[in-house]
Amino acid sequence: MKMNLKDTHNRTHNYLRISLTDKCNLRCSYCMPHENMQFTPTAQQMNATELLAITRHFVEAGVDKIRLTGGEPLVRKDIDVILKGLAQLPVRLAMTTNAVTLHKHFNLLEETGCTRLNISLDTLNKKRFFEITRRNNFEQVLANILEAKKRGFEIKVNTVLIKGTNDDEVLSLLKFFAKEEIPLRFIEFMPFKDNKWDMSKMVSEEEILEQVYHEYGKAKTETLAVADHATAREYKLPKAKVSFGVISSVTNPFCGSCNRLRLTSDGKLKNCLFSNNEADLLKLFRAGETITPAVNLLVAKKHAVRAGMVSAELFENKDTHQQNRSMVRIGG
Ligand code: SAM
Ligand code: SF4
Repeated sequence: MKMNLKDTHNRTHNYLRISLTDKCNLRCSYCMPHENMQFTPTAQQMNATELLAITRHFVEAGVDKIRLTGGEPLVRKDIDVILKGLAQLPVRLAMTTNAVTLHKHFNLLEETGCTRLNISLDTLNKKRFFEITRRNNFEQVLANILEAKKRGFEIKVNTVLIKGTNDDEVLSLLKFFAKEEIPLRFIEFMPFKDNKWDMSKMVSEEEILEQVYHEYGKAKTETLAVADHATAREYKLPKAKVSFGVISSVTNPFCGSCNRLRLTSDGKLKNCLFSNNEADLLKLFRAGETITPAVNLLVAKKHAVRAGMVSAELFENKDTHQQNRSMVRIGG
């Protein structure tokens, strides 16, 4: 049997996002459960050999882009072994990181060709950074972002906006990163297990654009063409050299061209960020069995839109989110 990464909606999946760990050196309130976060014991996680072997099957079936995420991928002690192993495969390597320890890993990332980085930063205010993340790493993170840019990494900064927390920073973040020539992307706050999501806390794409148009004028703000398999709608401020984007997974999802599958650090395959349906590939792998039938079945079961949550009513149902993992355990 051959691994088939095409689903019943004619979407081919060539992009695998691998979560390396559910541990993290920050504690972002929208990502990690507020109480009783249970980290996965190391023995239940894919070790580097297992991760590379399972990944190889996907690459043979057509995956040509891999993004490492977490938790915080750079807290994995064997990150060097993993990156060096993945660098042997015919894939484009990328990473999503909070950049707290990026300065210690620049050389490794350059050597292994993992030079596309999405870096998370939700505020330009040191005190607020602490309030959001419960850690005091603002200066180091900002310095690492600027250093990554200087060293020629292809970077984007990701910002989750939450009402009453950082929605007053839309314009200051845009101005700062446009000046630094670093593309910024706002992410709509999404619901996951125990992250106290509420529609009223989410800042929608429409609300973000309202602020931008009020400041710069709608006619002067360019709307760019949507790229293949895009997750964000892209815009450009007058005279800016780089674009900014909005990932509107809540109000306007991009499911139609989704090419992504997700592998969690404990070796479970997910066909959608919002799906609680998982295939335990690590269990099969450890039992010496083939993973192919389980992968094919999960890909075939992928819903057309957000794990079947087509309407706003279904999406807002809190019982549904409680059945999924928290974001820190999926890997965004
Ligand atoms: N630790 C890394 C980081 O922060 O970039 C990688 C993992 S983190 C889960 C990946 C991305 O998911 C980050 O950009 C983070 O802001 C985003 N994220 C986490 N929880 C979210 C939520 N509830 N809604 C929207 N985005 C979220
Ligand atoms: Fe950690 Fe990233 Fe989640 Fe923040 S968003 S808690 S940095 S995994």
